[in-house]
Amino acid sequence: MNDYYADLGVSRDATAEEIKRAYRKQARKLHPDVNPGPEAEEQFKRVSQAYDVLGDPEKRRNYDMGADPYASGAAAFGQGFSFSDIMDAFFGAGAGAAQRGPRSRQRRGQDALVRLDIDLADAVFGSESELTLETAVVCETCHGDGAQPGTSRRTCDVCGGRGEIQQVQRSFLGQVMTSRPCMTCHGYGEVLVSPCFECSGDGRVRTRRTLKIKVPAGVDTGTRIQLAGEGEVGPGGGPAGDLYVEVAVRPHATFQRRGDDLHCTIELPMTAAALGTTAKLDTFDGTNELEVRPGTQPGDVMTLRGLGVTHLRGSGRGDLVVHVNVITPTRLDAEQEELLRQFATLRGEERPEGRLAPAGHGLFGKLRDALKGK
Ligand SMILES: [Zn+2]
Ligand SMILES: [Zn+2]
Repeated sequence: MNDYYADLGVSRDATAEEIKRAYRKQARKLHPDVNPGPEAEEQFKRVSQAYDVLGDPEKRRNYDMGADPYASGAAAFGQGFSFSDIMDAFFGAGAGAAQRGPRSRQRRGQDALVRLDIDLADAVFGSESELTLETAVVCETCHGDGAQPGTSRRTCDVCGGRGEIQQVQRSFLGQVMTSRPCMTCHGYGEVLVSPCFECSGDGRVRTRRTLKIKVPAGVDTGTRIQLAGEGEVGPGGGPAGDLYVEVAVRPHATFQRRGDDLHCTIELPMTAAALGTTAKLDTFDGTNELEVRPGTQPGDVMTLRGLGVTHLRGSGRGDLVVHVNVITPTRLDAEQEELLRQFATLRGEERPEGRLAPAGHGLFGKLRDALKGK
């Protein structure tokens, strides 16, 4: 029967953590990738068996009671593990050796992001815009291959076509075999006998082109439109990335957008607000006749349903919210002033006392309600 505790160099009452630590220490020292030679290999096998048993609570319990899974015809444990498997187990995937073999010349291109300025009207109804941008496209001379037409490639003689060069390095783990990409062929494993004159072997060239873009109704500043495959073509003629068009809506002279509602303000003379009137209002949907009822107050709000921005998702449109501002006349001539005084006398308002309005009833309350969408 094997003495696994001795193999790992731990006592019989070692904790699981101590066993793990002991194995890690031995494995670093003895793994064949680090320490070639038949003696180390044999030792490594024994240490691995020991950890296989002691590292598993159930196997360890059985072993302590006299059952040894490796006692007769021990399986070739440990052969199947590479050094990087063990490194992965302890240090997380990717800690061991990098992927092997030459890399492909073709890679997917990068996504591209461009900005598109549009008018508010385009956001309300949607539009079609033209956008000129500069991106990488497939080289027409070599069709993305990178080789000057009529020439070929040859296997890199520095790395022998593997795309990487292996080195033995000393590190805190002992001797470790590492590999780095071959500088001569940039990891491709082969070199172009004569790179394409047009693209210098990259398989793509930069060019300006114009795209028609359908801007859906309802977009707002910051909305991104994704155009699949319209981004940068990849090296070696690899598939193109996506193009993202980020919308920026120019501020409008009279309409302000809040969500999908549009807000504007009309100014009415004091007399029109008192008597009522029909005001002409230019909207994105044409001229609208706005009924102003007699006694309209500053800050009053009139809502025109469905004249706002089209909802980006779903159907329908937001509202157009019209805020009223009442203009008090300033320069009065003598006759106007006299008439206003008579009017005040008729209403008993020669010496009015300012009254405090209940909270929420004044202009501020109305503004707040309008912003909340009440
Ligand atoms: Zn080319
Ligand atoms: Zn090479």
